[in-house]
Amino acid sequence: MERSRYQPDMKTILPLFIFIDACGWEIIKDDPFCNTVAPNRRRLESVFGYSSACVPSILSGRWPEEHRNWCYFVYDPKHSPFRWLKPLQWLPKAITSRRIVRRWLSKLVKVQLKFHGYFDLYNIPFKHISLFDFTEKKSPLRPRGMNRGPNISDFLEESGIAHHISDPTRSETESFDAVLADVKTGRIDFAFVYWPELDGLLHREGNQSPEISPKLRGYETRIHRLLEVAKEQYEEVRLYVFSDHGMANCDTLLDLKARIEQMPLQFGKDYAVVYDSTMARFWFFNEDARRTVTETLRTIPDGSIVPDAELERLHCLFPDRYFGELIFLMCEGVLIVPSHMGERPIRAMHGYHPEEKHSYAALLTNQPDIPDSISAIPHIYNLMVRDALLAKEQNRSQGPPEKRAGRRFPVTRKAPEPALAFSARVSIPNFEEEK
Ligand SMILES: [Zn+2]
Repeated sequence: MERSRYQPDMKTILPLFIFIDACGWEIIKDDPFCNTVAPNRRRLESVFGYSSACVPSILSGRWPEEHRNWCYFVYDPKHSPFRWLKPLQWLPKAITSRRIVRRWLSKLVKVQLKFHGYFDLYNIPFKHISLFDFTEKKSPLRPRGMNRGPNISDFLEESGIAHHISDPTRSETESFDAVLADVKTGRIDFAFVYWPELDGLLHREGNQSPEISPKLRGYETRIHRLLEVAKEQYEEVRLYVFSDHGMANCDTLLDLKARIEQMPLQFGKDYAVVYDSTMARFWFFNEDARRTVTETLRTIPDGSIVPDAELERLHCLFPDRYFGELIFLMCEGVLIVPSHMGERPIRAMHGYHPEEKHSYAALLTNQPDIPDSISAIPHIYNLMVRDALLAKEQNRSQGPPEKRAGRRFPVTRKAPEPALAFSARVSIPNFEEEK
């Protein structure tokens, strides 16, 4: 691959991982996206669930059954932090179901409850909100941000690898400026960039939108600029551009809530449910409710109950049924409306079965060899760890130590003291591991 002209104070390697949300295989497979800088491409299997499952899986190299970051809301009245929001049920729905009101309230709740990750009340009814808990209270991008086990931030801190990781609260432009500034200094041995805007565009406009191509060209411009700057400081940039899932257009709407509420069952007494936009997760409080709901779901041709064996195969079977006792998943292109995620339809969605056409993610790289074992998005973690260790080792001899010093968060100077309690659990990739 292309190497920069050698300068004596240059570092050897910069691993540059660029995560473009929803830049799925179907989005780029017929597009020359990054062909000149990352010509080696592969389709990757996604993780069953939404970004709440996919992003933590990439960041930790583990699956939802292991890290327990799966779906946002769960039935858990004992631990619900939302009881104080219940009086809002008396406000007219015309106000409480409005997106702008919900967004404003979500910000308030996030501060009040000291949640550090992404938080949105979405369309959870205030009448039932005290029955639910929110499962992502920390940010999986930050150190110690996983529900269980370590992530890439922990690994980098622990290994004393100076790094840059995008701050998820910043805009794409700000994230770009921030990584560019860190790359320019030549101080970092690893960079992870997160750009979420394509996901929003696809949700709004659909996967055939004429706005997709200009958006991809914009990403290319940024990536070229990053490479240009990086090549002044590093002999080799190992570039990986990747995504977490694709995006399917939603041409069929299903009012699943109305179907369930037709039954002589009471929410909170007989059953509880979270209507995510492409699946519904049920908890049952008596056998009659379980049987009635199951029978009704079996009559709906637009979706199916996911058997335990299938959940297990997808690494999303939770023996304690924390995320739901029964998972009803829609066929690709069918959207549950209204749902607890939104009152109104959106043009496109992800979160269907990982083997549906538009679920697949993509990996594009300038590296000639992608090991065969890299077939699903959690495996990107293995590439990150491998390249971070390689950069650490090869860059060590380059330049005086002060040149390699870390800087303010999220770039770290050395492993924190004392060593993190879970140090033994930080996994080093084994490319022979089961896929
Ligand atoms: Zn999305």
